[in-house]
Amino acid sequence: MKPDCLILRFGELTLKGRNRKRFERSVITQIRKVLGAFPDLRYIPEYGRVYVELGGAAYEEASTALQRVFGLASFSPAYHAPMESEAIKEAALRIMQNLPKAPKTFKVNVRRVNKSFPLDSQQMNYLVGGYILEAIPGLQVDVRDPEVELRVEIREDQVLLYAEVIEGAGGFPADTSGKALLMLSGGIDSPVAGWLGMRKGLTIEAIHFHSYPYTSERAKDKVIELAHQLAGYTDSIRLHLVPFTEVQTSIHREYKDNLLVTLIRRAMYRIAEQVADREGLSALVTGESLGQVASQTLPSLNVIGRVVTLPILQPLMMMDKQEIIRIAETIGTFPISILPYEDCCSLFLPPSPSTNPNLQLVERIENSMDFLPELIQKAVEQTETIEIVHGQMKKVPDQHFF
Ligand code: ATP
Ligand code: MG
Repeated sequence: MKPDCLILRFGELTLKGRNRKRFERSVITQIRKVLGAFPDLRYIPEYGRVYVELGGAAYEEASTALQRVFGLASFSPAYHAPMESEAIKEAALRIMQNLPKAPKTFKVNVRRVNKSFPLDSQQMNYLVGGYILEAIPGLQVDVRDPEVELRVEIREDQVLLYAEVIEGAGGFPADTSGKALLMLSGGIDSPVAGWLGMRKGLTIEAIHFHSYPYTSERAKDKVIELAHQLAGYTDSIRLHLVPFTEVQTSIHREYKDNLLVTLIRRAMYRIAEQVADREGLSALVTGESLGQVASQTLPSLNVIGRVVTLPILQPLMMMDKQEIIRIAETIGTFPISILPYEDCCSLFLPPSPSTNPNLQLVERIENSMDFLPELIQKAVEQTETIEIVHGQMKKVPDQHFF
């Protein structure tokens, strides 16, 4: 038995008025885009939800595609039945017998909109519930907290039944919260941070620092692949690739002690902010998580974050690594992230990176490196931009100030 309809519900129900309309329109646009491969769908919007008549389209594929839609709170596979109580009973029983996991308790919830239907909601609850109870041994009714709630909607022109509610990605629809620059390393954390930003409606561009030849081409390819995976949740992502070798080696030539990581990360942030400003992006997003490594203690974050004035959004800050990994697995970035190539941050690591850097000292060291502003400027200018389109890749012509 195959579902012939989908019921899609929007998220963030607290939104009101015009905002809500805009929100719903954006979600529907995105739904149409991800379901674009199925030409025969029919969309029927209603307050807070959309009915999609599948018209023969494969439910499983449609359901997988819907996981990429932000702003979708949940969806249900639904089944049509003739406007007639015997047929409704039969359809209800078949749904209950075909659930992915057989429940111990259930309840039937009938909503009758069509008042010309001869039985009212309560009578239908008894009729359908009684029929299922008799047919499935061991199953019990629990009206307060059932494992499964079988909904029957007797609408004006059709009857719909459904029992499963599948959680959607939630959040805000794509491109409704402004634009931000994701600092994307090849690790586990930053792609998750980017995805969480996208789920909140941010349009994400990514920036990656590479120190070729100290880091390999394959490390860069890995980042491109991560960006490609993220692009599956929008249409495309612009990826800015920063040649960071000269900045990094020059700092290291002058200073090799425990503040080295702090200095290098400050340089990264400065470059990222300049690229963000140039591209019209109004925040940085990073995968930092409190206490994870020396550069992510509160004193380190303080000394590093100070070099920029743009807001720094760090969605993983309070999360455990296990929670982050769980999201990475769900969004498909984990297997790419654990490929073994070096990130530029693991180059020239001092034996004991400072967890409590002194701001005045860091500033003094930087001031003594008079070559630094120029190298930073050069790295910004030599940043290469590629556009990663879901399913393909193309280079953006150089449009910056060379
Ligand atoms: P991740 O798993 O994302 O690599 P991490 O725990 O290894 O994070 P760090 O290497 O200290 O942490 O980096 C902290 C954050 O700085 C990253 O989450 C990312 O946002 C940014 N970052 C680190 N390396 C790079 C890089 N080469 N290019 C761009 N951003 C980077
Ligand atoms: Mg890293």
